[in-house]
Amino acid sequence: MRFLFLCLLIYLGYRVLKSLFLPGQSPSEPERHDEVARVDDVMVKDPFCETYFPKRSGIKEIINGETYYFCSTACRDNYLERIKKASE
Ligand SMILES: [Zn+2]
Repeated sequence: MRFLFLCLLIYLGYRVLKSLFLPGQSPSEPERHDEVARVDDVMVKDPFCETYFPKRSGIKEIINGETYYFCSTACRDNYLERIKKASE
């Protein structure tokens, strides 16, 4: 994991240096967004259906001060319903 992180740093450093030496060829916007997307793409587990999915495509919900991610609004609603019933 640490090795991968190092590779990423070297790669990003290379990209920065390249854009410094070649100012006319700075990376295009969509490409940069794509890189950010890959770095941010963390897999999270839906607490309701227990499926793993990319965090970015999930539904974010803050319940009792804790942040949860759901694969769909249906799972979120079902989970909210379940904890509501459990607390009754
Ligand atoms: Zn789900």
